[in-house]
Order: sequence, then C-alpha cells, then structure tokens
Amino acid sequence: MSSLKVPFLDLKAHHDPVRQEILAAMNDVIDANAFAGGPFVARFEEAFAAYCGTKHGIGVGNGTDSLWFSLLALGIGAGDEVITVPMTFMATTEAISMAGAKPVFVDIDPRTYTMDVAAIENAITPRTKAIMPVHLFGQCADMDPVMEIAKRRNLWVIEDAAQAPGTLYRGRKAGSIGHAASFSFYPGKNLGAWGEAGAVVTNDLALRDRIRMYRDHGQARKYHHDVIGWNGRMDGLQGAVLGVKLKYLDHGNSLRRAAAAHYAKLLGETAEVILPEEANYGRTNHHVYAVRVAERDAVMQRMAERGISCGIHYPVPVHLQKAYASLGHRRGDFPVTEACADSFLSLPMYPEITAEQVEAVAVALKASVKSRVGVAV
Ligand SMILES: *Cc1c(COP(=O)(O)O)cnc(C)c1O
Repeated sequence: MSSLKVPFLDLKAHHDPVRQEILAAMNDVIDANAFAGGPFVARFEEAFAAYCGTKHGIGVGNGTDSLWFSLLALGIGAGDEVITVPMTFMATTEAISMAGAKPVFVDIDPRTYTMDVAAIENAITPRTKAIMPVHLFGQCADMDPVMEIAKRRNLWVIEDAAQAPGTLYRGRKAGSIGHAASFSFYPGKNLGAWGEAGAVVTNDLALRDRIRMYRDHGQARKYHHDVIGWNGRMDGLQGAVLGVKLKYLDHGNSLRRAAAAHYAKLLGETAEVILPEEANYGRTNHHVYAVRVAERDAVMQRMAERGISCGIHYPVPVHLQKAYASLGHRRGDFPVTEACADSFLSLPMYPEITAEQVEAVAVALKASVKSRVGVAV
C-alpha cells in the first residue's frame, strides 16, 4: 500500500506561487470599479487572442456561453444541424440545442479520442451548418481534413477548445484554425479563472462584433438592441486574474507534459493499461491524462482505497444521456465512444504533481489492475 495521498487536482499548489500577484491585480480592478467587462477584460482579450495567434478575443461568462454565442452569431438556429462528437462534456451539445439547432454525432477516433474525420461526410445533410470538433483532453482534433470538408461543403467550423489552450496542431495553436474557437476558464481547466469565465477567439471582425453584441443584451450601442442577446460578459476580476495566469500557462503545460512522460515511462510495460497517444500532427497540453482499463469502476475504487483520486471523463456519452432521449440513439450507435466511456480512467494530472506522486499513482494503478474483482487484495 502506498501511503502517499494524491488528489485528482491541486489548485492550492497551483495558486500559492502566484497568489500575491493575482491579489494585486484584483486590487487594481477594485480601485478602478471595473467589475463587468471593462478594461481588464479588454486587456486579457487582446493578450489571449495574441497567445492563440488570432486577431480577436471576446471574453464571456463561461465556456458554455462562448460556444452558444458563437453559434448565435453565425446565425445557426432552428432547423439547422451541427456535427459534433458524443464523447465530450454536455456543454458542447447544450450550446447547440440552446441555439435551437440539432446536434448530429459522429464517433471518435480510437487512438486520438477526437472526431473521426472519416465519418463526417456521411453525417452531412442539407441542414448541416457547422462542424464542432472537440479537442478532448487537450489533444487537437485533426483539423486539416475538417477544414477541407467544411470549405468544400460550405460549413462553419467552431472548435471546442475548452480543454486545449496552448495545444498545437501542425505548429499552429488550437483555436486558431476554425472560423471561431471556444475556450473555458473554469477553475480546473489549464487556464483557470478564480470563478467562471470563457472566451471566443476568431480572425473574423464581423463575427467578433456580433459575439460582443450577444454577450451584452444584443446592444451595439447602450440601450439600442439590434438582436435578442444575453448577459454573458466576463467579470472584470476574472479578466485581471486570467491576465496574470496566462503568463504561466506555457510553463504549466510543459510541467503537465513532463508528468505525462513520467506516467508513460512507468506504465508503458503494463499490458492491462492503454496509455493516451499523442497524435503525430500535434502537441497536447495534457489537460486530462486518461488511460483505459478493463473493469474501470473496480479499478477506480481500488485506487481510492490506496489514497489516489481519479476521475472519469466521461462516464455517459452524450448520445445516451436522458436529456437527449428525443434524438432516439441507443447503445451501439457510437461504439468507440461507448467503449471509451466504459474504460476511461483519468489519473491525477496538474502542473505541480511531483515525481513522487506520479510514482505513487503508477504503483497503485499496477496493483489495482492486477487484482481481480472478488479477490482480497
Ligand atoms: C469545460 C468545457 C466546456 C464548458 O465550459 P464552462 O466554462 O464550464 O461553461 C465546454 N466544452 C468542453 C469540452 C469542456 O471541457
């Protein structure tokens, strides 16, 4: 038994070194009374767009807003279809549904866990308006074929890059490839706010202006409402927090990559564990380090008994969620997604995880996959 407890995430360890710098930035917001949108958000929008290699950034309330406003601003709504994957967080499809459109699923690739680009064409109908690939666990979807199909079939591409700030695709940043890309700054994401926040990045000026309207009650000018929008502005405090944290994102991502390499070295010979593979076209930010194991729930339980907290992303694919019963999907429709949902186990992963902690997780995992259900361990 390992005596070292390893949390799934350690936000305190992540924030302690930058706490004073962030508190000082928050004080500036309080002094300026710039709480809703405002100059601190504007400064972060510019810095984040530059980081992503895009022209424009639009700060919003959260990552779900950023997906939703992107769809609304592109004019996607009732009667339209948006192609995405069922192996994602519910927010991806919620945004499609709340825009009034219908999510149409294609399965994921069994090696990259992102959209199976070979399945896209078959899912296109005369109603299809957009493709929304998800950069799951920080690994970029294979964007060149997505963009080629979109161009040929006249479709929009919105990247769900919530998990992928800093990820690379053929040398370009995730989020800089589609017509728009959505990011989440939920605290547990690689670039996490001290609360809720999100952003859209795009190179399209007209699209930027429309998203700015949707996040602010459809106003282009105060009290002149051109469209029915929403209150989806980013908090000034979050803009200031994110402005500080953005400077440390690359460092954090490289520490995650080092931890992932260490996991791979320790677990590479364990036949019962399928390790994540990095696609040859890119560089993942290892937002989530998900292995695949048989009898996952029992393995996770045995890890917990050894003091190792794991996660599951995601145990129920979107097409099998009760909320989407009306789509009429059943088990068997997306076999790769379903097999992954049954076997994915997310190991502890955060920049500050120590080599000793990674070793403790690996020791516990090797022991946990080798003990059989019903046999005392
Ligand atoms: C986190 C996440 C979202 C939603 O972001 P919120 O900021 O929580 O609204 C959307 N898509 C994916 C893939 C995510 O991981």
